[in-house]
Amino acid sequence: MDIPAIFLWALFAVLGACFGSFFNVLIYRMPRELSLVKPGSHCPNCKHKIAIWHNVPILGWLILGGRCANCKESISIKYPIVEFLGMMLGFLSAVLADGDFIKCIILFWLIVTLIPIFAIDFKYLLLPDTITIGGIAFGFTVSFWSIGWLNSLIGIAVCGGGLFLFSFICSKILKKEAMGFGDVKLLAGFGAIMGAELAGISLIIGALLALAVTVPYRLLTKKDMKSPLPFGPFLGLAAPISYLLGNDILDLLYFYLL
Ligand SMILES: [Zn+2]
Repeated sequence: MDIPAIFLWALFAVLGACFGSFFNVLIYRMPRELSLVKPGSHCPNCKHKIAIWHNVPILGWLILGGRCANCKESISIKYPIVEFLGMMLGFLSAVLADGDFIKCIILFWLIVTLIPIFAIDFKYLLLPDTITIGGIAFGFTVSFWSIGWLNSLIGIAVCGGGLFLFSFICSKILKKEAMGFGDVKLLAGFGAIMGAELAGISLIIGALLALAVTVPYRLLTKKDMKSPLPFGPFLGLAAPISYLLGNDILDLLYFYLL
């Protein structure tokens, strides 16, 4: 399905800003185990309900001059920054998709959800179900227009089951939790979105990225090598790379190995 490029860019930039707005809620409330829907957006200081036109991504914050309409307490600049980041990443997805609508939706999901994955996993070592189980549901739904529902189901089973088994065995050997269940669900989602092979490539790229960043970082900061590692951000970052380049990587691997 081909759609004029500029329309896709604008559409997904706006969609990205809206997702950014939702991620603000998710990033604040999920680690605190608060409901995502109730209560609606309110000022944390005076509990004043934020009017719908003040809740418009980026613009709302600008109109208010970064202050609560009621008590004038300043509202963190983090909120419009996350929304702006969502907008930029949405735009980037549309540019990378090169006019292919389904590819654009898939890239959008893989890239924009990096915001909460990074924000929450690095700080709390948690991945929200909204993103992981959401990814499985998203992948299965979109598979009807991409890899097909059967490939999607196989992807969920192979990736989710495989990583679960791997982490279960490692946990038994190490006698401690080797990997969070969030990572298992996240990879299952990638299996649902792009099939088992490409999701498997993301796992490899993710593990390499994690090693390349974590080992030097821990050596430099003298942090304990055995302390738990947030794997979600690396796995998440690997997914769009694998989605875009995974088939080329597979071709290279088959060429050199077979
Ligand atoms: Zn207020």
